[in-house]
Amino acid sequence: MADRAATTRLLEVEAVRYRWPGQGAFALEVPRLSMESGERLLLIGPSGTGKSTLLALVAGIVAPLEGHVRVLGEDIARLGASARDRFRAEHMGVVFQMFNLLPYGSAVDNVLLPLSFAPKRRARVGARSAQEAEARRLLERLGLNPTAIARRRAADLSVGQQQRVAAARALIGRPELMIADEPTSALDSDTRDQFLDLVFSELAGTGAGLLMVSHDAALAPRFDRVVRLTDILGGAGASRSAEAVA
Ligand code: ADP
Ligand code: MG
Repeated sequence: MADRAATTRLLEVEAVRYRWPGQGAFALEVPRLSMESGERLLLIGPSGTGKSTLLALVAGIVAPLEGHVRVLGEDIARLGASARDRFRAEHMGVVFQMFNLLPYGSAVDNVLLPLSFAPKRRARVGARSAQEAEARRLLERLGLNPTAIARRRAADLSVGQQQRVAAARALIGRPELMIADEPTSALDSDTRDQFLDLVFSELAGTGAGLLMVSHDAALAPRFDRVVRLTDILGGAGASRSAEAVA
């Protein structure tokens, strides 16, 4: 296993190429993208350019056809699917575009879920009672009252509430990298700012990095760095973005 010294980059994407099975027209080529530990990076770009695909590669949900995706020095592109799942559970918190909550589970059940697949992350939180207390603390920090919603299944919560449950689930157990795909898309601007304040203050407390996708360029000043996906694409994507500039 790679040495995870303090100087190890949080993320290094190198010469990655990916194509979804059966989607001949779209190919993603990313020559280079990296993140330092604790960095908050906003990824922006028009829809259909491959932002969600890039997040799926960084999260190890899919493996690239070519290239390297190093997270904390571990090249997850070289791991099999189940090893990538285990690595993600231990080191990454992911907020998917559609949240992917367990529909019949409570908010607390959903927040606790990643811990069942991640022994080290679970050990950081503690025994079962400490896990439940931490889930409730995170839900409260994100503006939800866990007692008030305890009996409701996730599918019956509002979209804004589901978004907060998904964020608490990503944060529990202090993973080193939080990945979020348009997590504020369903929120109005006040709620959106409040949501980001809470996520940022949780991340600052743990030193974790954030890779977030948004189409909302107004969020840019709040991040350490903004990357426009079309500016970093190689191959056909690069010529597409050159045309867009011309
Ligand atoms: P963005 O997030 O920038 O809107 P996506 O990465 O979702 O872009 O989409 C890029 C291309 O990849 C599109 O052609 C889309 O249809 C395809 N795609 C995205 N996700 C999947 C998936 N899970 N299965 C198959 N094709 C996908
Ligand atoms: Mg997307």
